[in-house]
Amino acid sequence: MQISIIGVGYVGLVTATCLAELGHNVTCVDVVKEKIDEINRAEPPIYEEGLDDLLKKNIKRNLKATTDLNDAVMGSDISFICVGTPDKSDGSGGVDLKYIKSAAIGIGKILQETKDYHVVTVKSTVPPGTTDSLVIPLLEKYSGKKVDKDFGVCMNPEFLREGKAIHDFMNPDRIVIGESDERAGNVLYELYGGFNCPKLRVSLKTAEMIKYTSNAFLAMKVSFIGEMGNICKNLGIDVYDVANGIGYDSRIGHKFLRAGCGWGGSCFGKDVRAIIAKAREVNCKPVLLEGVIKANEKQPLRMIELLKEKIKSLTGKKVGVLGLAFKPDTDDMRESPVIPIINELLRENAVVYAYDPKAMKNAKMIFGDKIKYMDSAKQVADKSDAILVVTDWDEFKDKSLYVGKVVIDGRRVIEDTKGIDYEGICW
Ligand code: NAD
Repeated sequence: MQISIIGVGYVGLVTATCLAELGHNVTCVDVVKEKIDEINRAEPPIYEEGLDDLLKKNIKRNLKATTDLNDAVMGSDISFICVGTPDKSDGSGGVDLKYIKSAAIGIGKILQETKDYHVVTVKSTVPPGTTDSLVIPLLEKYSGKKVDKDFGVCMNPEFLREGKAIHDFMNPDRIVIGESDERAGNVLYELYGGFNCPKLRVSLKTAEMIKYTSNAFLAMKVSFIGEMGNICKNLGIDVYDVANGIGYDSRIGHKFLRAGCGWGGSCFGKDVRAIIAKAREVNCKPVLLEGVIKANEKQPLRMIELLKEKIKSLTGKKVGVLGLAFKPDTDDMRESPVIPIINELLRENAVVYAYDPKAMKNAKMIFGDKIKYMDSAKQVADKSDAILVVTDWDEFKDKSLYVGKVVIDGRRVIEDTKGIDYEGICW
Protein backbone atom coordinates (compact mmCIF):
# COMPACT_ATOMS: atom_id res chain seq x y z
CA MET A 1 0.00 0.00 0.00
CA GLN A 2 0.95 3.68 -0.28
CA ILE A 3 1.28 5.07 3.21
CA SER A 4 1.97 8.53 4.56
CA ILE A 5 3.12 9.16 8.11
CA ILE A 6 2.63 12.60 9.63
CA GLY A 7 5.08 13.31 12.47
CA VAL A 8 8.29 11.30 12.68
CA GLY A 9 9.02 11.11 16.38
CA TYR A 10 9.38 7.78 18.18
CA VAL A 11 6.02 6.44 17.01
CA GLY A 12 6.00 7.90 13.50
CA LEU A 13 9.52 6.91 12.55
CA VAL A 14 9.18 3.39 13.91
CA THR A 15 5.81 2.94 12.17
CA ALA A 16 7.25 4.30 8.91
CA THR A 17 10.37 2.14 8.94
CA CYS A 18 8.54 -1.02 9.94
CA LEU A 19 5.80 -0.58 7.32
CA ALA A 20 8.50 0.04 4.69
CA GLU A 21 10.30 -3.10 5.86
CA LEU A 22 7.02 -5.00 5.34
CA GLY A 23 7.04 -3.86 1.70
CA HIS A 24 4.76 -0.83 1.71
CA ASN A 25 5.71 2.44 0.02
CA VAL A 26 6.01 4.93 2.84
CA THR A 27 6.52 8.68 2.80
CA CYS A 28 6.99 10.35 6.14
CA VAL A 29 6.61 14.03 6.78
CA ASP A 30 7.59 16.33 9.63
CA VAL A 31 7.69 20.06 10.21
CA VAL A 32 11.27 19.87 11.51
CA LYS A 33 13.55 19.95 8.45
CA GLU A 34 16.65 18.72 10.32
CA LYS A 35 14.82 15.51 11.22
CA ILE A 36 13.83 14.98 7.60
CA ASP A 37 17.39 15.57 6.40
CA GLU A 38 18.75 13.15 8.99
CA ILE A 39 16.25 10.48 7.99
CA ASN A 40 17.08 10.90 4.30
CA ARG A 41 20.76 10.49 5.21
CA ALA A 42 19.72 7.27 7.03
CA GLU A 43 20.68 8.77 10.40
CA PRO A 44 17.90 8.17 12.95
CA PRO A 45 17.17 11.39 14.88
CA ILE A 46 16.40 9.25 17.94
CA TYR A 47 18.10 6.23 19.48
CA GLU A 48 16.06 3.06 19.12
CA GLU A 49 17.43 -0.48 19.01
CA GLY A 50 17.57 -1.77 15.42
CA LEU A 51 16.29 1.46 13.86
CA ASP A 52 19.66 2.34 12.38
CA ASP A 53 19.86 -0.83 10.27
CA LEU A 54 16.22 -0.79 9.26
CA LEU A 55 16.44 2.83 8.16
CA LYS A 56 19.62 2.24 6.14
CA LYS A 57 18.00 -0.71 4.42
CA ASN A 58 14.73 0.98 3.49
CA ILE A 59 15.56 4.60 2.84
CA LYS A 60 15.55 5.47 -0.85
CA ARG A 61 14.13 1.99 -1.53
CA ASN A 62 10.50 2.32 -0.44
CA LEU A 63 10.85 4.85 2.37
CA LYS A 64 11.34 8.57 1.95
CA ALA A 65 11.04 11.66 4.11
CA THR A 66 9.85 15.14 3.23
CA THR A 67 8.63 18.38 4.77
CA ASP A 68 5.91 18.64 2.12
CA LEU A 69 2.64 17.21 3.41
CA ASN A 70 1.17 17.28 -0.07
CA ASP A 71 3.97 15.09 -1.36
CA ALA A 72 3.31 12.54 1.34
CA VAL A 73 -0.49 12.38 1.44
CA MET A 74 -1.38 12.83 -2.22
CA GLY A 75 -1.79 9.45 -3.82
CA SER A 76 -1.52 7.49 -0.54
CA ASP A 77 -4.15 5.00 0.63
CA ILE A 78 -3.71 5.64 4.33
CA SER A 79 -2.27 8.55 6.29
CA PHE A 80 -1.20 8.00 9.89
CA ILE A 81 -1.25 11.00 12.23
CA CYS A 82 1.63 10.42 14.67
CA VAL A 83 2.19 13.93 16.00
CA GLY A 84 2.77 14.70 19.67
CA THR A 85 -0.10 15.23 22.11
CA PRO A 86 1.60 16.94 25.07
CA ASP A 87 0.03 18.31 28.25
CA LYS A 88 -1.51 21.77 27.99
CA SER A 89 0.85 24.33 29.45
CA ASP A 90 -1.87 25.70 31.81
CA GLY A 91 -1.39 22.86 34.31
CA SER A 92 -4.98 21.63 33.85
CA GLY A 93 -3.80 18.13 32.90
CA GLY A 94 -5.72 18.43 29.64
CA VAL A 95 -4.12 17.56 26.31
CA ASP A 96 -2.81 20.17 23.90
CA LEU A 97 -4.31 19.12 20.58
CA LYS A 98 -2.75 21.85 18.44
CA TYR A 99 -0.52 19.43 16.48
CA ILE A 100 -3.48 17.11 15.85
CA LYS A 101 -5.54 20.06 14.64
CA SER A 102 -2.87 21.28 12.26
CA ALA A 103 -2.31 17.77 10.87
CA ALA A 104 -6.07 17.29 10.36
CA ILE A 105 -6.44 20.68 8.65
CA GLY A 106 -3.45 19.93 6.39
CA ILE A 107 -4.77 16.52 5.40
CA GLY A 108 -8.29 17.92 4.93
CA LYS A 109 -7.02 20.47 2.40
CA ILE A 110 -5.27 17.75 0.43
CA LEU A 111 -8.34 15.48 0.50
CA GLN A 112 -10.16 18.24 -1.33
CA GLU A 113 -7.98 17.44 -4.35
CA THR A 114 -7.90 13.62 -4.13
CA LYS A 115 -10.12 11.35 -6.16
CA ASP A 116 -9.46 7.98 -4.55
CA TYR A 117 -10.77 6.69 -1.24
CA HIS A 118 -8.36 7.53 1.59
CA VAL A 119 -8.27 6.48 5.25
CA VAL A 120 -7.01 9.01 7.78
CA THR A 121 -5.75 7.15 10.84
CA VAL A 122 -5.05 8.75 14.19
CA LYS A 123 -2.19 6.89 15.86
CA SER A 124 -1.33 9.61 18.37
CA THR A 125 -2.83 9.12 21.82
CA VAL A 126 -5.86 11.41 22.02
CA PRO A 127 -8.59 11.74 24.70
CA PRO A 128 -11.76 9.71 24.12
CA GLY A 129 -14.03 11.57 21.72
CA THR A 130 -11.27 13.57 19.98
CA THR A 131 -11.36 11.79 16.63
CA ASP A 132 -15.17 12.10 16.45
CA SER A 133 -15.47 15.65 17.72
CA LEU A 134 -12.32 17.32 16.40
CA VAL A 135 -10.51 15.33 13.71
CA ILE A 136 -13.52 14.35 11.59
CA PRO A 137 -15.14 17.84 11.64
CA LEU A 138 -11.81 19.43 10.60
CA LEU A 139 -11.28 16.89 7.81
CA GLU A 140 -14.83 17.49 6.55
CA LYS A 141 -14.54 21.28 6.79
CA TYR A 142 -11.23 21.56 4.96
CA SER A 143 -11.90 18.88 2.34
CA GLY A 144 -15.52 19.81 1.69
CA LYS A 145 -16.16 16.04 1.71
CA LYS A 146 -18.12 13.63 3.95
CA VAL A 147 -16.64 10.99 6.22
CA ASP A 148 -17.71 7.41 5.37
CA LYS A 149 -18.84 8.56 1.95
CA ASP A 150 -15.75 10.21 0.48
CA PHE A 151 -13.06 9.15 2.96
CA GLY A 152 -12.70 6.95 6.04
CA VAL A 153 -11.27 7.55 9.51
CA CYS A 154 -9.64 5.11 11.92
CA MET A 155 -8.08 5.38 15.36
CA ASN A 156 -5.27 2.90 15.79
CA PRO A 157 -3.50 3.38 19.15
CA GLU A 158 0.14 2.43 19.45
CA PHE A 159 1.42 0.33 22.35
CA LEU A 160 5.14 0.10 21.56
CA ARG A 161 7.72 0.49 24.31
CA GLU A 162 10.59 2.90 23.64
CA GLY A 163 13.80 0.91 23.55
CA LYS A 164 11.98 -2.13 22.13
CA ALA A 165 9.86 -0.19 19.67
CA ILE A 166 10.79 -2.09 16.50
CA HIS A 167 10.27 -5.44 18.17
CA ASP A 168 6.95 -4.33 19.64
CA PHE A 169 5.66 -2.88 16.36
CA MET A 170 6.54 -6.09 14.52
CA ASN A 171 5.22 -8.40 17.30
CA PRO A 172 2.16 -6.71 18.78
CA ASP A 173 0.12 -8.37 21.55
CA ARG A 174 -2.97 -7.05 19.78
CA ILE A 175 -3.95 -4.48 17.20
CA VAL A 176 -6.82 -2.13 18.01
CA ILE A 177 -8.72 -0.70 15.07
CA GLY A 178 -11.21 2.01 15.93
CA GLU A 179 -13.25 2.71 12.80
CA SER A 180 -15.67 5.35 11.57
CA ASP A 181 -17.29 2.63 9.48
CA GLU A 182 -16.56 -0.92 8.31
CA ARG A 183 -15.00 0.14 5.01
CA ALA A 184 -12.38 2.29 6.75
CA GLY A 185 -11.60 -0.48 9.25
CA ASN A 186 -11.25 -3.02 6.44
CA VAL A 187 -8.39 -1.00 4.95
CA LEU A 188 -6.41 -1.12 8.21
CA TYR A 189 -7.39 -4.75 8.75
CA GLU A 190 -5.88 -5.55 5.38
CA LEU A 191 -2.74 -3.50 6.12
CA TYR A 192 -2.19 -5.54 9.28
CA GLY A 193 -3.20 -8.81 7.62
CA GLY A 194 0.24 -10.38 8.09
CA PHE A 195 0.31 -9.81 11.86
CA ASN A 196 -0.55 -12.90 13.83
CA CYS A 197 -2.32 -11.41 16.85
CA PRO A 198 -5.86 -10.58 17.93
CA LYS A 199 -7.27 -7.63 15.97
CA LEU A 200 -10.00 -5.77 17.78
CA ARG A 201 -12.46 -3.68 15.79
CA VAL A 202 -14.18 -1.10 17.93
CA SER A 203 -15.59 2.41 17.81
CA LEU A 204 -13.21 5.37 17.52
CA LYS A 205 -13.67 6.44 21.13
CA THR A 206 -13.34 2.91 22.48
CA ALA A 207 -9.96 2.66 20.72
CA GLU A 208 -8.92 5.97 22.28
CA MET A 209 -10.03 4.76 25.72
CA ILE A 210 -8.21 1.42 25.40
CA LYS A 211 -4.92 3.30 25.06
CA TYR A 212 -5.49 5.47 28.15
CA THR A 213 -6.72 2.55 30.22
CA SER A 214 -3.70 0.49 29.23
CA ASN A 215 -1.20 3.21 30.21
CA ALA A 216 -3.06 4.07 33.42
CA PHE A 217 -3.03 0.40 34.42
CA LEU A 218 0.70 -0.03 33.73
CA ALA A 219 1.56 3.16 35.61
CA MET A 220 -0.64 1.97 38.48
CA LYS A 221 1.25 -1.34 38.68
CA VAL A 222 4.59 0.46 39.01
CA SER A 223 3.28 3.03 41.52
CA PHE A 224 1.69 0.17 43.47
CA ILE A 225 4.79 -2.00 43.74
CA GLY A 226 6.88 1.07 44.66
CA GLU A 227 4.52 1.78 47.53
CA MET A 228 4.55 -1.87 48.64
CA GLY A 229 8.36 -1.69 48.37
CA ASN A 230 8.50 1.29 50.73
CA ILE A 231 6.39 -0.64 53.25
CA CYS A 232 8.44 -3.83 52.77
CA LYS A 233 11.70 -1.97 53.37
CA ASN A 234 10.48 -0.66 56.71
CA LEU A 235 9.31 -4.16 57.64
CA GLY A 236 12.64 -5.73 56.67
CA ILE A 237 11.08 -7.71 53.82
CA ASP A 238 12.51 -7.98 50.29
CA VAL A 239 9.85 -6.59 47.92
CA TYR A 240 11.40 -8.50 45.00
CA ASP A 241 10.56 -11.78 46.77
CA VAL A 242 7.06 -10.46 47.37
CA ALA A 243 6.66 -9.36 43.72
CA ASN A 244 7.88 -12.75 42.59
CA GLY A 245 5.41 -14.41 44.93
CA ILE A 246 2.43 -12.47 43.62
CA GLY A 247 3.58 -12.51 39.99
CA TYR A 248 2.98 -16.26 39.67
CA ASP A 249 -0.70 -15.56 40.12
CA SER A 250 -1.94 -15.60 36.54
CA ARG A 251 -4.36 -12.78 37.40
CA ILE A 252 -1.37 -10.57 38.27
CA GLY A 253 1.70 -11.59 36.21
CA HIS A 254 5.36 -10.68 36.80
CA LYS A 255 5.72 -7.68 34.49
CA PHE A 256 5.80 -4.07 35.70
CA LEU A 257 6.41 -5.20 39.27
CA ARG A 258 9.96 -3.93 39.73
CA ALA A 259 9.91 -1.61 42.70
CA GLY A 260 12.27 1.33 42.30
CA CYS A 261 12.48 5.09 41.89
CA GLY A 262 9.36 5.26 39.74
CA TRP A 263 8.12 5.49 36.18
CA GLY A 264 8.82 8.25 33.67
CA GLY A 265 8.72 8.77 29.94
CA SER A 266 6.63 10.83 27.61
CA CYS A 267 3.43 8.84 28.01
CA PHE A 268 2.49 7.57 31.47
CA GLY A 269 2.40 10.94 33.22
CA LYS A 270 0.70 12.86 30.47
CA ASP A 271 -1.79 10.08 29.73
CA VAL A 272 -2.77 9.53 33.36
CA ARG A 273 -3.16 13.29 33.85
CA ALA A 274 -5.22 13.46 30.65
CA ILE A 275 -7.65 10.73 31.67
CA ILE A 276 -7.97 12.34 35.11
CA ALA A 277 -8.90 15.63 33.37
CA LYS A 278 -11.37 13.78 31.13
CA ALA A 279 -12.88 11.99 34.13
CA ARG A 280 -13.48 15.31 35.89
CA GLU A 281 -15.12 16.70 32.75
CA VAL A 282 -17.71 13.92 32.98
CA ASN A 283 -18.24 14.32 36.74
CA CYS A 284 -16.11 11.40 37.93
CA LYS A 285 -13.64 11.62 40.82
CA PRO A 286 -10.64 9.50 39.82
CA VAL A 287 -9.12 9.02 43.30
CA LEU A 288 -7.10 5.95 42.35
CA LEU A 289 -5.59 7.65 39.29
CA GLU A 290 -4.67 10.69 41.38
CA GLY A 291 -2.91 8.36 43.80
CA VAL A 292 -0.95 6.78 40.93
CA ILE A 293 0.51 10.20 40.10
CA LYS A 294 1.12 11.27 43.71
CA ALA A 295 2.91 8.05 44.64
CA ASN A 296 5.16 8.38 41.62
CA GLU A 297 6.02 12.00 42.35
CA LYS A 298 7.25 11.08 45.82
CA GLN A 299 9.25 8.02 44.83
CA PRO A 300 12.38 9.52 43.17
CA LEU A 301 12.89 11.85 46.14
CA ARG A 302 13.23 8.82 48.43
CA MET A 303 16.68 8.43 46.87
CA ILE A 304 17.67 11.79 48.38
CA GLU A 305 16.08 10.97 51.74
CA LEU A 306 18.08 7.75 51.90
CA LEU A 307 21.25 9.54 50.82
CA LYS A 308 20.79 12.12 53.57
CA GLU A 309 20.48 9.37 56.15
CA LYS A 310 24.05 8.46 55.22
CA ILE A 311 25.48 11.90 54.41
CA LYS A 312 23.86 14.53 56.60
CA SER A 313 24.63 17.62 54.54
CA LEU A 314 24.91 17.47 50.77
CA THR A 315 26.45 20.95 50.48
CA GLY A 316 29.61 20.68 48.39
CA LYS A 317 29.39 16.86 48.29
CA LYS A 318 30.29 15.21 45.01
CA VAL A 319 27.31 13.07 44.04
CA GLY A 320 27.43 10.82 40.99
CA VAL A 321 24.25 10.07 39.06
CA LEU A 322 24.28 6.98 36.86
CA GLY A 323 21.47 6.97 34.34
CA LEU A 324 19.55 9.92 32.92
CA ALA A 325 17.14 8.30 30.45
CA PHE A 326 13.84 7.29 32.02
CA LYS A 327 14.66 3.66 31.31
CA PRO A 328 17.47 1.71 29.59
CA ASP A 329 17.79 1.34 25.80
CA THR A 330 16.49 4.82 25.07
CA ASP A 331 17.82 8.39 25.04
CA ASP A 332 14.43 9.76 26.10
CA MET A 333 14.50 11.88 29.25
CA ARG A 334 10.94 13.13 29.17
CA GLU A 335 9.62 12.97 32.78
CA SER A 336 12.62 10.89 33.80
CA PRO A 337 12.77 10.37 37.60
CA VAL A 338 16.32 11.71 37.36
CA ILE A 339 15.01 15.25 36.78
CA PRO A 340 13.51 15.76 40.28
CA ILE A 341 16.48 13.88 41.77
CA ILE A 342 19.09 16.15 40.18
CA ASN A 343 17.03 19.28 40.90
CA GLU A 344 16.89 18.29 44.56
CA LEU A 345 20.63 17.58 44.67
CA LEU A 346 21.28 21.02 43.19
CA ARG A 347 18.87 22.62 45.68
CA GLU A 348 20.91 20.97 48.44
CA ASN A 349 24.08 22.44 46.84
CA ALA A 350 25.64 19.12 45.89
CA VAL A 351 28.05 18.94 42.93
CA VAL A 352 26.51 16.53 40.42
CA TYR A 353 28.56 14.27 38.10
CA ALA A 354 26.31 12.49 35.60
CA TYR A 355 26.56 9.88 32.88
CA ASP A 356 24.19 7.98 30.62
CA PRO A 357 25.16 5.84 27.60
CA LYS A 358 22.59 7.50 25.31
CA ALA A 359 20.92 10.50 26.95
CA MET A 360 23.81 12.99 27.35
CA LYS A 361 22.61 15.26 24.54
CA ASN A 362 19.12 15.47 26.02
CA ALA A 363 20.52 15.99 29.54
CA LYS A 364 22.56 18.98 28.36
CA MET A 365 19.37 20.57 27.00
CA ILE A 366 17.70 20.15 30.41
CA PHE A 367 20.49 20.94 32.89
CA GLY A 368 22.86 23.10 30.81
CA ASP A 369 25.98 23.87 32.82
CA LYS A 370 24.38 23.17 36.21
CA ILE A 371 25.87 19.66 36.36
CA LYS A 372 29.10 18.00 35.19
CA TYR A 373 28.87 15.58 32.28
CA MET A 374 31.18 12.56 32.34
CA ASP A 375 32.18 10.23 29.50
CA SER A 376 31.73 6.97 31.39
CA ALA A 377 30.32 5.39 34.52
CA LYS A 378 33.92 4.90 35.70
CA GLN A 379 34.61 8.64 35.47
CA VAL A 380 31.50 9.32 37.55
CA ALA A 381 32.64 6.77 40.13
CA ASP A 382 36.15 8.22 40.26
CA LYS A 383 34.84 11.74 40.90
CA SER A 384 32.06 11.01 43.39
CA ASP A 385 31.74 10.50 47.14
CA ALA A 386 28.29 8.96 46.69
CA ILE A 387 26.49 7.44 43.72
CA LEU A 388 22.80 7.28 42.88
CA VAL A 389 21.80 4.63 40.32
CA VAL A 390 18.69 5.85 38.55
CA THR A 391 18.52 3.87 35.27
CA ASP A 392 19.21 0.13 35.01
CA TRP A 393 21.59 0.12 32.05
CA ASP A 394 23.55 -3.15 31.93
CA GLU A 395 26.89 -1.36 32.19
CA PHE A 396 25.94 -0.06 35.63
CA LYS A 397 25.91 -3.62 37.00
CA ASP A 398 29.72 -3.59 37.27
CA LYS A 399 30.37 -3.87 41.02
CA SER A 400 33.85 -2.36 40.79
CA LEU A 401 32.24 1.06 40.19
CA TYR A 402 30.83 1.12 43.68
CA VAL A 403 33.33 -0.47 46.07
CA GLY A 404 34.13 1.85 48.98
CA LYS A 405 31.33 4.29 48.05
CA VAL A 406 27.97 5.28 49.46
CA VAL A 407 25.47 3.99 46.91
CA ILE A 408 21.71 4.44 46.71
CA ASP A 409 20.37 1.97 44.18
CA GLY A 410 17.06 3.04 42.66
CA ARG A 411 16.75 0.09 40.29
CA ARG A 412 18.13 -3.03 41.98
CA VAL A 413 21.14 -2.96 39.66
CA ILE A 414 23.84 -4.13 42.09
CA GLU A 415 23.59 -7.74 43.18
CA ASP A 416 26.69 -8.24 45.31
CA THR A 417 26.82 -5.37 47.80
CA LYS A 418 29.84 -6.53 49.87
CA GLY A 419 32.30 -3.67 50.40
CA ILE A 420 29.74 -1.02 49.35
CA ASP A 421 27.94 1.32 51.76
CA TYR A 422 24.76 0.25 49.98
CA GLU A 423 21.11 1.15 50.33
CA GLY A 424 18.34 -0.05 48.02
CA ILE A 425 15.41 2.30 47.60
CA CYS A 426 12.76 -0.29 48.48
CA TRP A 427 14.82 -3.20 49.83
P1 NAD B 1 7.42 13.00 19.34
O1 NAD B 1 7.26 14.30 20.04
O2 NAD B 1 8.68 12.21 19.49
O3 NAD B 1 7.17 13.20 17.77
C1 NAD B 1 6.13 13.96 17.24
C2 NAD B 1 6.61 14.52 15.89
O4 NAD B 1 5.51 15.17 15.23
C3 NAD B 1 7.72 15.57 16.01
O5 NAD B 1 8.81 15.18 15.21
C4 NAD B 1 7.07 16.87 15.50
O6 NAD B 1 8.00 17.71 14.85
C5 NAD B 1 6.05 16.30 14.54
N1 NAD B 1 4.94 17.22 14.18
C6 NAD B 1 4.23 18.03 14.97
N2 NAD B 1 3.27 18.64 14.26
C7 NAD B 1 3.39 18.21 12.98
C8 NAD B 1 2.67 18.49 11.78
N3 NAD B 1 1.63 19.31 11.74
N4 NAD B 1 3.08 17.86 10.66
C9 NAD B 1 4.12 17.01 10.67
N5 NAD B 1 4.82 16.71 11.79
C10 NAD B 1 4.46 17.31 12.92
O7 NAD B 1 6.16 12.12 19.81
P2 NAD B 1 6.08 10.53 19.98
O8 NAD B 1 6.75 10.11 21.25
O9 NAD B 1 6.40 9.85 18.71
O10 NAD B 1 4.51 10.40 20.25
C11 NAD B 1 3.55 10.68 19.24
C12 NAD B 1 2.18 10.25 19.74
O11 NAD B 1 2.18 8.84 19.99
C13 NAD B 1 1.78 10.89 21.05
O12 NAD B 1 0.39 11.09 21.05
C14 NAD B 1 2.14 9.86 22.09
O13 NAD B 1 1.37 9.96 23.26
C15 NAD B 1 1.84 8.56 21.35
N6 NAD B 1 2.60 7.39 21.78
C16 NAD B 1 3.94 7.52 22.09
C17 NAD B 1 4.65 6.38 22.46
C18 NAD B 1 6.10 6.48 22.84
O14 NAD B 1 6.63 5.52 23.40
N7 NAD B 1 6.79 7.57 22.54
C19 NAD B 1 4.02 5.13 22.52
C20 NAD B 1 2.68 5.04 22.16
C21 NAD B 1 1.97 6.18 21.78
